[in-house]
Amino acid sequence: MVSWVAAELLSKGLIDGVAHVVPTDPAADGRFFDFRISRTPAEVREGARSRYYPVELSRALAEMRAVPGRYAVVGVPCFIKAVNLLRAEDPVLRERVAFTLGLFCGHMKSARFVESFAWQLDAPFGEVRAVEYRRKDPDRPANWYTAELTLADGSRRWQDWWHLVDGDWGAGFFQNSACNYCDDVVAETADVSFGDAWVEPYSSDGRGTNVMIVRHPEVAALVSAAIGEGRLSLQEVDADFIAETQAAGLRQRREGLAYRLRTAPPALPLRKRVAPGGEGLPLRRKLVYRSRKWISAGSHRVFALARAWGWRGLYLRWARYSLRLYEAATYLRGPLGKALRRLEP
Ligand SMILES: Cc1cc2nc3c(=O)[nH]c(=O)nc-3n(C[C@H](O)[C@H](O)[C@H](O)COP(=O)(O)OP(=O)(O)OC[C@H]3O[C@@H](n4cnc5c(N)ncnc54)[C@H](O)[C@@H]3O)c2cc1C
Ligand code: SF4
Repeated sequence: MVSWVAAELLSKGLIDGVAHVVPTDPAADGRFFDFRISRTPAEVREGARSRYYPVELSRALAEMRAVPGRYAVVGVPCFIKAVNLLRAEDPVLRERVAFTLGLFCGHMKSARFVESFAWQLDAPFGEVRAVEYRRKDPDRPANWYTAELTLADGSRRWQDWWHLVDGDWGAGFFQNSACNYCDDVVAETADVSFGDAWVEPYSSDGRGTNVMIVRHPEVAALVSAAIGEGRLSLQEVDADFIAETQAAGLRQRREGLAYRLRTAPPALPLRKRVAPGGEGLPLRRKLVYRSRKWISAGSHRVFALARAWGWRGLYLRWARYSLRLYEAATYLRGPLGKALRRLEP
């Protein structure tokens, strides 16, 4: 849907380019993805799919400054907010960034997540040339994520996320630490934002279903026209429906954020919409938030140690046990989960 809107803006002549994330050749500089400015609908479509990979925008911004035109920028909520702050200060970018297209965001992963895929798929990391975080398969529910690596010899290896030690998204493996203090799930400052409809029956539909929040009249007109012409199938939903699709993300950024703010480092600029709190949360909710934060911090450190010592088992074992703790608190799974259930009122 993001690619569709971006391509539509281009083909209607409303913009000259789209800054978005595309796959790159890791043999060149070790990176699997980077921002690029695409100038045709075909180029835009090359960037489709979600990339849980750290990227940076400075070269795309420099190109927008250097080459006159109107641009759209695609990004996660914090990137869109940063672009808007820059637009407030920089008259050239204020004029040239015509639209911002935001992605709903749970959290960002570090580049090591790809390396961990390679370890678990028994693929030599130096041979990995491409990564898909969510391989498309219309015959399987959209929320069954499958990671896929393509190697230099053209062969492919894949595995469902739930068979990976760090494949439970909610556990927060390799999460960027800034995401612990983020309060924007739906890219609130973007002209239009997009997410996945994580509610039934949509989450079981292998083709995937988007939710979209339109805040810009020109995008709204574009979408209405395409619906009228039968080129787009969209139903109007209310804010509660959108919130329901992001229930877990919103819980983590409201209730969870309040709880984490109690112990936030004092140096952080933390003016948030929720105040520190959460003292009265049930023990299990506290354990979920604590284990998630512990896993996100620990995964970077233990992976770095395992890498330095050439001992993958260190990380893989640590991740397996950490996941058990998280699953006990979250889903009451395993012997520890049973014990926790007994403590529930
Ligand atoms: C880190 C991350 C976390 C996410 N968390 C959630 C979530 O919690 N809930 C939810 O509903 N949706 C989440 N999404 C968004 C969701 O995965 C889809 O990206 C969104 O629904 C758009 O899908 P689409 O099929 O319409 O986009 P497509 O047509 O496939 O286009 C995706 C566009 O996004 C661009 N893109 C991909 N990754 C990045 C990136 N890292 N930075 C900037 N641009 C990028 C691509 O270049 C492409 O233009 C997340 C996405 C990312 C990248
Ligand atoms: S969770 Fe927030 S801080 Fe983290 S990548 Fe997403 S928008 Fe940025």
